[in-house]
Amino acid sequence: MKVKLADKRGFCFGVEYAIEIAERAIEKYGRNKVVALGPVIHNKSVVEHLEQKGLDQSGDLETIPKGSNVLIRSHGATPETIARARRRNLNIVDATCVLVKKAQNMVRKLHEEGYQVVMIGDRNHPEVRGVIGYAPNVVVIDSLEEVAVALPRKTRLGIVAQTTHSPAHLAEIVAEIVRRPFKEIKIHNTLCMEVTQRQAAAVALCSEVDVMFVLGGLHSANTQELTRLCQAEGAHTYHLEKWEDFDPAMVAEAKVAGVTAGASTPEWTIQAFVRGLEAL
Ligand code: SF4
Repeated sequence: MKVKLADKRGFCFGVEYAIEIAERAIEKYGRNKVVALGPVIHNKSVVEHLEQKGLDQSGDLETIPKGSNVLIRSHGATPETIARARRRNLNIVDATCVLVKKAQNMVRKLHEEGYQVVMIGDRNHPEVRGVIGYAPNVVVIDSLEEVAVALPRKTRLGIVAQTTHSPAHLAEIVAEIVRRPFKEIKIHNTLCMEVTQRQAAAVALCSEVDVMFVLGGLHSANTQELTRLCQAEGAHTYHLEKWEDFDPAMVAEAKVAGVTAGASTPEWTIQAFVRGLEAL
């Protein structure tokens, strides 16, 4: 089978940075001496890789022994979580992505300037849960329906977005907001270019292939978004974690397969998948 790879795919600089910080912390403090507040990224094979190196990713702040090292993952954490860690005398190893930090700082600044802060994103995603901790009463919306019911009547809105959202999704929701009588709407583009480049490359590839494979953790927001965009493009699309999830029936009619991967998917997963497809 012929396989075409998306020009931009796989690990972003934020994920590479988080892994490097985790590995350096293990080297410095020793095996099982560093505890991450949950999986460092949404990818099983990377989580297992770090576990084997000696990183504890069990993640409950209250049960981490006093004086241990706590790793803040790329999604970041609320100021309250960081303060709790300090109160428990934990040494903080911060692997928060610089772009997530930018969104956190922006939320704080908008609130200080008197805006009602609105975040467009998935309220259950750890990045969003962390970012909204930087100002009180941040309103989170993620659909056109929520624009109608959830936005407060205040006149000055300050908007940020979850880094992994697509520009199209953000534009759709913002277009709905500007139809309403807010006196001032300030939008900070907190979308991640690494993600939007992967999205554009995946969409471009859809027209050249018979079937698209999007590789990445099933809970990875940016991988889910890649899948959604490829499907919206009309491509026959599968979101799989690894080659072992592949079924030959998926390519029964296909001659050319496209492969892309989310920002938390390692190159070793992509290459194993491509080798498997090419051998068919
Ligand atoms: S996807 Fe973007 S925001 Fe998220 S970790 Fe990677 S570089 Fe940072």
